Amino acid sequence: MKISFHGADRDVTGSCHLVECGGRRILVDCGMYQGGRALEEENAEPFGFDPSRVDVVLLTHAHLDHCGRLPLLVARGFQGEVVTTSATRELSRLVMLDSAHVMEEDARRRARRKARKGKEGEEDGPLYTEVEALNAMDRFGRTARYGEPVSVVPGVRATFVDAGHILGSACILVELEEGEERRSILFSGDLGNPGRPLLRPPATPPKVDVVIMETTYGDRDHRDPAASAAELWEAVSAALVRGGNVVIPTFALERSQEILFDLRRGLDADKLPSLMQVYLDSPMAISATEIYRRHPECYGPDAAALMAGGKDPFGMPSLRFTRETAESKALNEIRSGAVILAGSGMCTGGRVRHHLKHNIWRSQSAVVFVGYAARGTLARRIIDGANPIRIFGEELPVRASIHTINGYSAHADRSELLAWHRSTGAGRTVLVHGEEEAMKAFGDALSDTEVLMPARGDVLEL
Ligand code: ZN
Repeated sequence: MKISFHGADRDVTGSCHLVECGGRRILVDCGMYQGGRALEEENAEPFGFDPSRVDVVLLTHAHLDHCGRLPLLVARGFQGEVVTTSATRELSRLVMLDSAHVMEEDARRRARRKARKGKEGEEDGPLYTEVEALNAMDRFGRTARYGEPVSVVPGVRATFVDAGHILGSACILVELEEGEERRSILFSGDLGNPGRPLLRPPATPPKVDVVIMETTYGDRDHRDPAASAAELWEAVSAALVRGGNVVIPTFALERSQEILFDLRRGLDADKLPSLMQVYLDSPMAISATEIYRRHPECYGPDAAALMAGGKDPFGMPSLRFTRETAESKALNEIRSGAVILAGSGMCTGGRVRHHLKHNIWRSQSAVVFVGYAARGTLARRIIDGANPIRIFGEELPVRASIHTINGYSAHADRSELLAWHRSTGAGRTVLVHGEEEAMKAFGDALSDTEVLMPARGDVLEL
């Protein structure tokens, strides 16, 4: 019995861990490396194991850094079954197709650029195509329900435990049996931030021998999520009262639905003007919201109570979905009363840049950031106070009010990670999915457990 590490090792992306037991191979997650060209080029490298000899893939959740290399695994010979929760199955289809689409577009753009320079025929294709993403969907087999063990291969059982991170997310308990030997391993996946209204908090984990856990915020505590909704309502109301619009750059998955849910709550509680018009201007976020509507089994008590009372947790009379480009462009004509949610969250691409172009120079309007903004991105420059800013080659003065709300994190913070870890009672702790400093700080805070921080390719005998 052993486990080897093939991604998210002393790093936050590319989660991929291989468990071997009694001649069977089980892969937990098959994520993509993200963040900068050098790291992203590693996605095309060999996995570090033979995909055709993997029997089963268990997916913790649908974020790209956990499921994004799955189409590649299938293209390189994986013929086994992918087991995950029903919501993760639907969301990962959306995420993998979107990723393939973006990579195909990029590859076409690179090819055109090379053709202009007379270097035709040298183009490098996408990492995988939309067809290959669909092929990967054919490998999805049984779905798992929270708390109900699934016998994945002889000698290996998996139980999905609610991780409270995004819709359908799970920690996965893997129980191994080889002859007289028994071992239990718990993969944390990404752990959610409790106290958010849409999802349940992470479930209390089972007692295990070994825990493989994420450490994204291993060195930091968050602000109270309850305060975030109030900050959002205040920023939105003030701009609408001034006669402007509100632009909210947001990620398609989870954050968009969370913001819709909070806007709906604000309307119900009379914290927002009843005449506001809300636009979800992102085809991917619209599809994700439809998937959220289909999975009330994942909701926390607030959202579940609405659903039970026959109400749509994401529905408002004033909400419009703008899937088509023409509908999106029409929003440019609106001078006041609009709340526009559009991607990308860091303003590195997508429709949000058009909305910024039409609103950021207007003192009546507001821009509200609700997510992480990496260094070097347009979102980060605006947050850091750059003025003027450049969008589509045009220099624009920043006159809109700029807000940053920090409480909307989908990740557990340091105190929550420590409490979760204590409940596992694990004698061995493997830290993954974190920046090295956060990982070390977190490791130092653990007691009564052996702490390991593997490098890529390391093997741990169980
Ligand atoms: Zn995640």
